[in-house]
Amino acid sequence: MNASTASPLIELRSVVKVYNSLAGSVTALNGIDLKITQGEFLVVTGKSGSGKTTLVNVITGLDRATSGEIWIDGAPLHRFGSEKAARLRGKIMGVVFQSFELLPTLTVLQNVMLPMDFARRSSTWKQRKRALKLLEQVDIADHAKKLPTALSGGQQQRLSIARAMANDPAILVADEPTGSLDSATATAVIDIFEGLVQQGRTVFMVTHDKDIAKRGSRTITLSDGEIVYSENKAFTTEVTEPTEIIKRASLCSLW
Ligand code: ADP
Ligand code: MG
Repeated sequence: MNASTASPLIELRSVVKVYNSLAGSVTALNGIDLKITQGEFLVVTGKSGSGKTTLVNVITGLDRATSGEIWIDGAPLHRFGSEKAARLRGKIMGVVFQSFELLPTLTVLQNVMLPMDFARRSSTWKQRKRALKLLEQVDIADHAKKLPTALSGGQQQRLSIARAMANDPAILVADEPTGSLDSATATAVIDIFEGLVQQGRTVFMVTHDKDIAKRGSRTITLSDGEIVYSENKAFTTEVTEPTEIIKRASLCSLW
């Protein structure tokens, strides 16, 4: 299945996630039905504890749903074990985690090269070149040789965004990717995401920020693990200058 077919790139059917612990059970997702088509910029909003991160975890296969079905580009993710899910994720997705999940013993540059190494798509020299370019785009190339702990929170967030884009993923999943950024940097990051969408990539982004949420092509709101609101805008992206388009287009053709 690919972009030319009408089927959704991501489809969730009656997805439920219950966390069981000694303290009792929490229903974090309570019957989510959702179809996302290729090229959508889907924004997920909702209060703290509404289930946003849980939704990210089940869509990326980092955690298993308790029941329901999750189809990713025609593949039944809900039936996959963690290794198979990791392979699918590596092939098709880039993930920006709310807590960054950077590897502390690798340099900034190596953190970005690691997913490329796993995918084994190119020589180390090419990986290095692309990683540096991605770091330039998020404005932290000067810190390439440092360890992630030497970076500020905002810089670590930008590093996690560069890493998520390492393998030029068809789907970018980002959990509060602008949470630690000042508004100018946050806008720059959303510009990057919009550029990806213009190139036919699909973005699934969780955010608290109302202004950032407006930049999506569709917004859904979660409350107590349910979709309580959905707004589908006509897909129009304002581009002020032609140079912007060129800058954005160059993002996705780095190889
Ligand atoms: P959000 O990202 O919208 O803040 P989460 O998906 O993190 O929400 O959490 C949804 C609900 O699930 C919350 O009530 C939270 O406390 C609970 N929860 C999340 N992760 C776990 C876990 N690992 N174990 C138990 N409960 C959890
Ligand atoms: Mg969260």
